[in-house]
Amino acid sequence: MKAKKTTKKKKEETRQFQAEVAKILDIVVHSLYSHNEIFLRELVSNASDACDKLRYAALTEPKLLEDGGSDFAIHLVIDKDSKTLTIIDNGIGMSHEDLITNLGTIAKSGTSEFLKAVSESKSKDVNLIGQFGVGFYSAFMVADSVDVITRKAGEPNGWFWSSDGKSAFTIKETGDAARGTKVVLHLKQDAEEFLEPARLRTVVKTYSDHIALPVILDAVAGDKDAAPESLNSASALWMRPKADIKPEQYKEFYHHVGQSMDEPWHTLHYRAEGAIEYTALLFIPTAKPFDLLHPERKVHVKLYVNRVFISDGLEGLMPQYLRFVRGVVDSTDLPLNVSREMLQNNPVLKKIQSGIVKRFLKDLKTRSKNSEEYSKFWSVFGAVFKEGLYEDFEHRDDLLELTRLQSTSSEELISLKDYTSRMKNGQDAIYYITGENAAVLKNSPQLEGFIAKGIEVLLLTDPIDEFWISSVGVYNKMPMKSVGEAGADLSKITGEKNSDKPEDAASEDIIKSLTENLKKVLGEAVADVRPSDRLTDSPVCLVAETGGMSLHLARMLKQHGEGTGAIPKVLEINQRHSLIKRIAELPEEFFSDAAHLLLDQARIVEGEPVPDPAAFARRLAAAMERGLS
Ligand code: ADP
Repeated sequence: MKAKKTTKKKKEETRQFQAEVAKILDIVVHSLYSHNEIFLRELVSNASDACDKLRYAALTEPKLLEDGGSDFAIHLVIDKDSKTLTIIDNGIGMSHEDLITNLGTIAKSGTSEFLKAVSESKSKDVNLIGQFGVGFYSAFMVADSVDVITRKAGEPNGWFWSSDGKSAFTIKETGDAARGTKVVLHLKQDAEEFLEPARLRTVVKTYSDHIALPVILDAVAGDKDAAPESLNSASALWMRPKADIKPEQYKEFYHHVGQSMDEPWHTLHYRAEGAIEYTALLFIPTAKPFDLLHPERKVHVKLYVNRVFISDGLEGLMPQYLRFVRGVVDSTDLPLNVSREMLQNNPVLKKIQSGIVKRFLKDLKTRSKNSEEYSKFWSVFGAVFKEGLYEDFEHRDDLLELTRLQSTSSEELISLKDYTSRMKNGQDAIYYITGENAAVLKNSPQLEGFIAKGIEVLLLTDPIDEFWISSVGVYNKMPMKSVGEAGADLSKITGEKNSDKPEDAASEDIIKSLTENLKKVLGEAVADVRPSDRLTDSPVCLVAETGGMSLHLARMLKQHGEGTGAIPKVLEINQRHSLIKRIAELPEEFFSDAAHLLLDQARIVEGEPVPDPAAFARRLAAAMERGLS
């Protein structure tokens, strides 16, 4: 969306901010935010990105560096008289078009997420701003007005952008601009602390120490001893030895690279040496990143080649099921001046990916020993991690070992190893049931026979479960079987107890004629009717046909408009249940209603809609009336 053009005076034009930008500005300007110093983190980070971008562009077009050199740096300039703080970089700069798009509209989907996050956070935490790709606007927390003077590398003319952060900005051409970008903040009265070198020193050290370029405070006018002063370490944090890096530095780097504000749940920093050399500094967040479940499934690890930033989220560097990982990989073994597309298919990249995945899985195994800590990770990222079970064949065994699931026998999450270690005598399958909610699943009539025999059943509630489980199929030679599939044979398993119902099963003849009559009356509504061992308390349940799609999967596909029509369901009946025995004896005129009521009841328990609610209500009323008379 383009910002709207309103007036045009000679060379200066005034444009309205896009509505979303105006909303963000309104929040930023009016929030009483206690850590307003984060504006500097955002502007320094933008300046550093701009230098990275130019360095990358110059790999294929070296002349871009001619008018401004290749010594990249960020300068801070204090002017106490005019009460301005200026942030200068000699990076890529912005063209007229870039300025209008980048500092007037928001192309990314970040805005609505930002507005939602801020409105949900009690403290109206504007600190979140960097996460959503709208960090520039934080300048208006400390400035009444902001000027941006910029010239794009390789272009002759520069541009002057200015705004008071209310509803509009002006833009005009200027011949007088160095390559790169200069952001001039006309500080608010209550933000004059940012004219003090000591304050800037602390802020840069706290938030921007890891920036790989020097952040230099220029000599302050009027201070005769002053000389330019470098405020940060200016070396790529990931290249420093682990022992020299403090936890806070890792954390701050994570905030920068991950555009997040939480603590990293796990930090992985290592240097791979040998056939392929690279350094990785990677983090698993604690909190769910806002785009975790977006359909693009974008990965977020930055790739550097010899300290030169190449790409953010290059496919091929990380598998998509680890898309929550944030951080940096820097390699000396990848070619510098090839396109991103060619890099993506470079075999070295594949080897790096494989190396990273192995390290991660190894670390996760170690961390999984502390089940409380591990469940924090699992509850946030488990659903995404499980995508690896059907995508990453190479590491499937490790992924299965790391998978945690809910089950009928435990309040805690369990592993497949836990499950198999307590299987019953004669049990030759891992049983599971899929659905939306573990508490509801636990009460499913399909589980009654299993619970009665003390057989553990996995409760799978993530949509992804349907897919990985059918692709994996077997764990440790044990097939995985859905309890919903008809014919789960419980009779050969030695359980703790059999049915605790006193009634005996109805005779085979009675059941045979009952199932035939039910089939006749219910017709196409069921694929089959058969007696079952799996029921103890309920009279009936609905199951999918063996080898067919589970009822839960069919419902999910239907919700996504991909229904394959009604799938045939099998009505299983409990031959020991007194209701079933009574129905078998019903006179013909009542039988049809009873049969339909049984089926509707099974549908309700399964979470299926009753196709004809009026008929259901009429039949129920009639049955109640008979029962009460
Ligand atoms: P983000 O940096 O997360 O994309 P911002 O709101 O901070 O979000 O910045 C918006 C865009 O403006 C940036 O993506 C970048 O294209 C451009 N930009 C901001 N500052 C600079 C700068 N110093 N030099 C060049 N481009 C910049």
